[in-house]
Amino acid sequence: MDHRSDQAKQYRRLYGRRWRNYRERYLRRHPLCVMCQREGKVTPATVVDHITDHKSDLDLFWDPDNHQPLCKPHHDRDKQAETHKGFSVRVGDDGYPVDPRHPAAR
Ligand SMILES: [Zn+2]
Repeated sequence: MDHRSDQAKQYRRLYGRRWRNYRERYLRRHPLCVMCQREGKVTPATVVDHITDHKSDLDLFWDPDNHQPLCKPHHDRDKQAETHKGFSVRVGDDGYPVDPRHPAAR
């Protein structure tokens, strides 16, 4: 069996109706982008981001602690930055970077 199309199928299933419903409820409870808030801006969140890439792991995918509300630009920027820099630019509830590889955490 082709592994790649298998994974694509799995992703499609993960992001199915259950996730869409969850996402809607989540964004109602967490309507603002957390990264914009840290910059002192108020921006509606449109993406429920997986803080740690779930890689189609169900536990990670549905773990509420692994979710954060983001606006689309921040979501895309964060993911890109991570790929380029080799560390996550995400910060925790206390405002400090959560990734030990982050220069500010050293
Ligand atoms: Zn934002």
